[in-house]
Amino acid sequence: MRCTMTAPPSTNAVLMRKLKDWDGDPYTQYQALENKAYDFGNYRIRFVQVQGSPGAFPASVVHLDTAIAEMGLDKDLLSTPPRRLAAADYLLRAFGKAVDAHAKQNRGAQGSGSFQPIDMPPQVLQRNLVHFDEATLRFVLIISLPGSGDNRILADQAGAMLEKELPAIFSSLRAAVVSGTTMQHHCNTVEDMIDLQHRLPQYNLVAFVGDGAILPRQSGASQFPMTTGAVEFSAPDDLAVEVDLLNSGRVRGLGIRPGVNVIIGGAFHGKSTLLQALAKGVYPHIPGDGRERVVTHPDAVMLCAEEGRAVTDLDIAGFIDHLPSQQSTQRFTTANASGSTSQAAGTVEALQAGARLLLIDEDSSAANFLARDRTMRQLLPEETITPFLDRVRELDRRYGISTLLVLGGSSIYLGAADQIMAMRYYSPVDMTDRVTRLNLPDPVEPPEPLVIKDHRRVSAGNFDPAYDARRMGKRLLLRIKPLRLQPGILEYGNQQVDLTRLDALVDPLQTLAVGYALLQAGTQFDDLQLSPSDLAAALDELVVKEGLGALLPDHHSHLALARPRRLELAAAINRLRDLRVDHKDN
Ligand code: ADP
Ligand code: MG
Repeated sequence: MRCTMTAPPSTNAVLMRKLKDWDGDPYTQYQALENKAYDFGNYRIRFVQVQGSPGAFPASVVHLDTAIAEMGLDKDLLSTPPRRLAAADYLLRAFGKAVDAHAKQNRGAQGSGSFQPIDMPPQVLQRNLVHFDEATLRFVLIISLPGSGDNRILADQAGAMLEKELPAIFSSLRAAVVSGTTMQHHCNTVEDMIDLQHRLPQYNLVAFVGDGAILPRQSGASQFPMTTGAVEFSAPDDLAVEVDLLNSGRVRGLGIRPGVNVIIGGAFHGKSTLLQALAKGVYPHIPGDGRERVVTHPDAVMLCAEEGRAVTDLDIAGFIDHLPSQQSTQRFTTANASGSTSQAAGTVEALQAGARLLLIDEDSSAANFLARDRTMRQLLPEETITPFLDRVRELDRRYGISTLLVLGGSSIYLGAADQIMAMRYYSPVDMTDRVTRLNLPDPVEPPEPLVIKDHRRVSAGNFDPAYDARRMGKRLLLRIKPLRLQPGILEYGNQQVDLTRLDALVDPLQTLAVGYALLQAGTQFDDLQLSPSDLAAALDELVVKEGLGALLPDHHSHLALARPRRLELAAAINRLRDLRVDHKDN
């Protein structure tokens, strides 16, 4: 945690007197609180950054420090990184609930006079809002201090927030920690998942879906589990494996093996739902989500068509050679990729970035990227696509990269598959033996092996965060934020980076972290001549070593972030429309 040298704290009575004196003063008077600390008995708060107006974004940042013992936190719950991750996640969710229960909110104009807990998806992500050290717990609170429409301090409202609501919120947090087994269960669930994810190779698995899981959501737009009519997941005997969870003992479920896996099945039988759950299964889920025991290889990536995306100087010749435009596909650049070229590019980039399990749904794929049937091969000999089908075995046999494909309407992958499963009425059924008996022809072997090595090096001077709003005649030195109404789109400087198709970005605060990672790419790593995937790895290592805060420049050091994976960092770099790269030919 960042430490600032400051005077010893005053009592909260001093703070209350101060606020009283300031009643009706200009709002900016609040800023005199910056760097001041106040002791509330069982915790102390420090104003780290104070906003200058009621509607300011970001609002004010307050550190709440308390003794771990004071919180009633069992040290055992904090003894390993996965446990600290789980405990921090639990505390942040409990804080959100405590605010709902105890804070009036909107006590001032423009939404000020509010605590601002973050929205949290059901996935458990590393964040920069809770820090533990030997004996203390630090909570980073985002608070909008109450002000009037004419920018004046509302002292009574501020007093109510800090002297009444905050202590109630604190007590409620402590109650959430000490009462019953909820926190223990939360932490055990998360730890079980992370532990199993590390040990998947031990069971020779790339993914696991525990029996009893609820995979469908309430709607296509919902993160909440379907409540009525959901069919619990249940593995048939011939596909079932048993795994030993660290805290919960032995559980049974579907085991997905390394190699080429195909899921077939009729329309609406739950194929895409299963694949989506697996795509999210790279992260732990909170108890009650239904997907707590869906565990996927940490480097799994969903691949899909992204028409219109930009591609920069990428070698996609392993999939697509000689376009009608005579454009080279060893150095393929476009501002507007087609379905098949976009999916080929996304696949090559994911492989370069270290993807180990590829998830593909025919619903979101370019048909001609996936496969070409015999008749089409005869009719169109000039076609120069090597479909993914021809590479899928090579990926496994040569590179150890597994695939899980969902296909409803075509048998074309069955000859290449090691394992075949059908989804019938939302339950898996083993089909491998039945299909093997059909004696399907072996897949075509492509003449040239697939090249994964990246010859591109990110040039110096990319990643300019400045924004020119020409129409308004203003220039911002830095614009980094997810689009408000479409948080999968990152506004970075003058660019909009479309990350909406990255299934493993589940929180806008991850998108924001991607943005600040790009900023660091332009400052700390600007001259290093790294490939996009090496650059992503360097940024990821920075986060591992120094925490998410290392992505933030000093004047933004209090923004809330959630950690993206290295794979999404690479994906974002590759999707920049203005990316410039040099070419290393060795
Ligand atoms: P497919 O990809 O096989 O066409 P989907 O996965 O899109 O099917 O699922 C079709 C519908 O069935 C969706 O509305 C989904 O929410 C619902 N569904 C999926 N799995 C289950 C389940 N286990 N229980 C109940 N409904 C489910
Ligand atoms: Mg589907």
